[in-house]
Amino acid sequence: MNGSPLEAVIGLEVHVQLDTGRKLFCADSTAFGAPPNTSVCPVCLGLPGALPVLDPGAVDLALRAALALDCTIHRTSIFARKNYFYPDLPKGYQISQFERPLATGGVVELDSGRRVRIRRVHMEEDAGKSLHDRFASATAVDLNRTGTPLIEIVSEPDLRSPREARSCLQLLKLLMEYLEISDCNMEEGSLRVDANVSLREKGSERLEASTEVKNLNSFSAVEKALGVEIERQTRIRAGGAAVIRQTLLWDAAAGDVRVMRNKEDSQDYRYFPDPDLPPLVLPAQRVARLRAGLGELPRAKRERFRRQYDLPAYDAGVLTSSRALADYFEAVTACGRQPKTVSNWVMGPVLKIVKRGIGHLASPGLAPARLAELIALVDGGTLSAPAARTVLAGMARTGDPPAAIVQREGLTQVREDQVLEGWVADAVAAHQREVARYRGGETRLLGFLIGQVMRASGRKADPRRVNQLLRAALDADAD
Ligand code: ADP
Ligand code: MG
Repeated sequence: MNGSPLEAVIGLEVHVQLDTGRKLFCADSTAFGAPPNTSVCPVCLGLPGALPVLDPGAVDLALRAALALDCTIHRTSIFARKNYFYPDLPKGYQISQFERPLATGGVVELDSGRRVRIRRVHMEEDAGKSLHDRFASATAVDLNRTGTPLIEIVSEPDLRSPREARSCLQLLKLLMEYLEISDCNMEEGSLRVDANVSLREKGSERLEASTEVKNLNSFSAVEKALGVEIERQTRIRAGGAAVIRQTLLWDAAAGDVRVMRNKEDSQDYRYFPDPDLPPLVLPAQRVARLRAGLGELPRAKRERFRRQYDLPAYDAGVLTSSRALADYFEAVTACGRQPKTVSNWVMGPVLKIVKRGIGHLASPGLAPARLAELIALVDGGTLSAPAARTVLAGMARTGDPPAAIVQREGLTQVREDQVLEGWVADAVAAHQREVARYRGGETRLLGFLIGQVMRASGRKADPRRVNQLLRAALDADAD
């Protein structure tokens, strides 16, 4: 063992639940949270004589994903049986694609510029769920999930750090959400990740034995678990031992990985083509139609936002973090408001309102034209920016147009010096201590005093003018 530096080699296997609302080979619902074992039928339970029938809607979604990942779509793919015994697998096999998957050979490009090759995208059905927390001394089985449509996206081992694995996953999630392939709800298991990792000497091209960490249900779990596993492998190698191919389980509570079993090979599953399902044959037209319907993907949209609206990279990134938000921004801008001003409003006050649950992007009060009206009131000097934020919250809550709220609540901006000077004088008189400290050199107290004036004015004062008048008052009476 010499002391050459080691590098991490990471590949991801990502399971994504397709948002068809129904199972892959039968019509049972896949709604999350149904009472246990109520969303099942002879097909997904694998009862004798029941025949699976492939849902074309799921195939379309899988194809959209594969196309967005720049994969080669195979005109013919085959569903196979992956045989293993597990209490949550009533058929004794899972229908998946093995030798002839739907698509191979794609790529995603990370923001760092790293190109991560996608080995394959295949379709498969989910298994049921073993529930270990229902009974003190027994495990319960819920078969609602059996037959849920999934795609598995398998990357090549092209990632080099836990951080990069996280970025790759975030990018995949964004893509799946954009294309409305999946809600990607990680808590509900709509996006699940297995992370494979090995270490090798930097500069080596060889692939060393890797381990696979399962049960990762958040971005931070992926990053943390890989970090912990890299440390574990580093210790093993430092002790002169070899890492062996194993499947590990991430224990989020303990912040550690546990060995679950030695890794199975594909021959352990005795794959064979499912005799109940014909080969999936895709006419070129169907693939072409889906390709044409993909629309603008996140990266392209972000680049366009930077160019077309002359936005900083940060703004373009936030605004294109979901299609709904991007559409919203564009709709407000289309009402004739300046893009950077709109961006500030959307990224700041609007998202805050959404986050607090006061409203959402589709609330009537937050309609793009309404936000544009509000911004116009600020631009025209009728409203101060702080008062406008109050009005925006009112719009979200009541659905009323901004002008009506301004009228009703008497929020029209006060810009007359006479009135403003009165508030300034009151604030100076009421906060003598802060005024003295300001004059002693603590200039940051100006912000505090402006705040007092704004409060006294019911947020109606023109903040820029208050700033000027306050400075004048503080400097003039200084000696
Ligand atoms: P299989 O499960 O068919 O044996 P692999 O183990 O080759 O397939 O690949 C499964 C996943 O593990 C892929 O995402 C791949 O990128 C990753 N992987 C394969 N070899 C390594 C390795 N040496 N180090 C890290 N990841 C690897
Ligand atoms: Mg695997």
